[in-house]
Amino acid sequence: MEQTLVVLKPDAVLRGLIGEIVGRFEKVGLKIVAAKFLMVKKELGEKHYPADRESFLRGMGEKTLENYKKMGADPVKLLGTADSLEIGRMIREWLIEYISTGPVFAFVLEGPHAVELVRKLCGHTLPLISPPGTIRGDFCYDSSYLANTAKRAIKNLIHASGSIEEAKYEIPLWFSPAEIYSYERVEERVMR
Ligand code: GDP
Ligand code: MG
Repeated sequence: MEQTLVVLKPDAVLRGLIGEIVGRFEKVGLKIVAAKFLMVKKELGEKHYPADRESFLRGMGEKTLENYKKMGADPVKLLGTADSLEIGRMIREWLIEYISTGPVFAFVLEGPHAVELVRKLCGHTLPLISPPGTIRGDFCYDSSYLANTAKRAIKNLIHASGSIEEAKYEIPLWFSPAEIYSYERVEERVMR
């Protein structure tokens, strides 16, 4: 049994997609064990997107480099660098800004393989290449190129923990133990 953190970012809330997205997780059988609607303060944004997690920063930079390569765009000309870590640091600033521009809906999902299942339902970080049937593929079209040109984070509706370790770090940032509930959903009996 795993728990994972999901945050419906301001674009999902402003576009009225909370019900649609939450419904997809519920139908798969993932259990909501905590939920809240809030404005994210800078301090939480900074912890949620940690400055010292190099693999996370490089990963974002690499997504930019791949997307630019595909489009024949020159990262040095457009961003002043082709270093994935430097690009990642730039994106992190945009992300902290983005996550605090409006209310977000945060919740914890529980279930077997919850982390992997939720990531599968979300789809790829870049909506442009996220397949149909996924949340990002069905409801948005953004790319690194579009987002970086506008000096903002990619609007891809949703955050979901990328690994079990990430979930263990993220959940306590958003929820205290008393805010996380334990109960049984009826289909758990069917699946036993
Ligand atoms: P995720 O786990 O799929 O959300 O992706 P990451 O953890 O790598 O990145 C976190 C968030 O940063 C993404 O959801 C996007 O909103 C944003 N992001 C990632 N890559 C890029 C990029 O190349 N350019 C911009 N502008 N934003 C990005
Ligand atoms: Mg991530």
